[in-house]
Amino acid sequence: MSSRTSTISDPAAPESLYVKRRKIQVRDITGRFRKLKWQVLVLLLAIYYIVPWLRWDRGPNAPSQAVLVDFPARKFYFFFIEIWPQEVYYLTGILIMMAIGLFGITATIGRVWCGFACPQTVWTDLFMAVERFVEGDRNARLKLDQAPMSVNKALRRIAKHILWLLIALATGGAWVFYFADAPTLAVELAHFQASTAAYATIGLLTLTTYSFAGLAREQICTYACPYSRFQAAMLDEHSIVVTYRTDRGEPRGKASRVATPAAPAAKLGDCIDCAACVTVCPTGIDIRNGQQLECINCGLCIDACDHVMDKVDRPRGLIALDTLANLEQRRTGVDPNPKLKIWRPRVFVYMALWLGVGLVMLVTLLTRPNLEMSVQRDRNPLFVTLSDGGVRNGYTFHLINKMHVERQAVLSVEGLPGARIYVLNLGEKPEPTLTLGPDAVTAERVFVTVPRGALTADSTDFRFVLRDPASGDEAHYGGIFRGPGK
Ligand code: SF4
Ligand code: SF4
Repeated sequence: MSSRTSTISDPAAPESLYVKRRKIQVRDITGRFRKLKWQVLVLLLAIYYIVPWLRWDRGPNAPSQAVLVDFPARKFYFFFIEIWPQEVYYLTGILIMMAIGLFGITATIGRVWCGFACPQTVWTDLFMAVERFVEGDRNARLKLDQAPMSVNKALRRIAKHILWLLIALATGGAWVFYFADAPTLAVELAHFQASTAAYATIGLLTLTTYSFAGLAREQICTYACPYSRFQAAMLDEHSIVVTYRTDRGEPRGKASRVATPAAPAAKLGDCIDCAACVTVCPTGIDIRNGQQLECINCGLCIDACDHVMDKVDRPRGLIALDTLANLEQRRTGVDPNPKLKIWRPRVFVYMALWLGVGLVMLVTLLTRPNLEMSVQRDRNPLFVTLSDGGVRNGYTFHLINKMHVERQAVLSVEGLPGARIYVLNLGEKPEPTLTLGPDAVTAERVFVTVPRGALTADSTDFRFVLRDPASGDEAHYGGIFRGPGK
């Protein structure tokens, strides 16, 4: 896999690590891949802009936004799923599944994520469409670039940047709706009553969208994105990638292919060296030079070359989706395998890993308890000896009720004979009933007192039991009771 290199004027001089950016003016094209890219773009943008406005009824004590990252409550809502802060491992699991999925897809059908679904690709495509609308297609833009500044040029440039900024603003504006109730936040934003964080986030995303999709474009994919760097490790010779059929195209040339007595036809391949595949490439590379890390597998060069082949009356597919194994076979004159080898051991390994992680997450999600507690024992003092001879330990409870209704739960102690429980604001009871707020964490201060004679060591294992008699839900916590010893 090669990469773009700089031109060295002096062979004795060391090669520069800096490559001056070459402005890429992409030509518009129609075809299968272009159509698919538009369809994916519309679908993904629709999802991005519509999802925060979807409602999901969770009852009176929970937000009714289908997808919400609730920072103040430290919760993540995704339709019927609610992730609590202590369940952040679900998000880790989702990220692991996304990474494995990406590896599997890349091993199978190459960088299809980069070419079609990556936000950088989607927004760059959108920004390029705006540029084409305002300044015209490639030739018109090249002309405009070279023309001296004029009213027409200035107006077109200003219009383009204003439209880019508006799209960038809409992008940042939509993002913040994922973090608050969308209709409420929209009203607050319109009346300049939203939080500073909301305006700052919109400003930052407006700036990054504008500079990444409008100004930096392919530079992000080539230099900033780590994925393009390690994709070579994920591809193998059977991965489906965009390839140029050297055996069919070479030697390339524009020379006349029709023999005349004066000029016998040159023996040329199918490539007429028209550079149509280069001018439509969003990363500005020439696929005829072989696999390059800049190639995002978007397939636009296939569309361009197919048009050319139609015009010169040659079969389509001079540039096509194929495997490097087939390409090598063709090069050595062996007929390639017409069937692409999609199902390979590494693809099965990726699938098994993906399904395994997904299954573990699903089972834990469906079987997770609705009632939980976490307990911290007081460290200072470790225990207090009361005037009646009893020994008291203090605890701070965090009781988690994941149901959207208030619940009553009974607290008891097992393993400490004669233990009495004192709950701050409730007083001392053998088995106090605690009120748990709906979909909330309730904090309680609890003291357990044990008769001195019941303790046989300075540390006794016991457990708290929290039980909701109405639902039968139970939570346990194993703890240590400290005392003065024998
Ligand atoms: S579009 Fe096809 S014919 Fe034209 S230069 Fe590219 S490979 Fe050759
Ligand atoms: S070489 Fe072809 S597939 Fe690769 S990025 Fe350029 S246009 Fe897309």
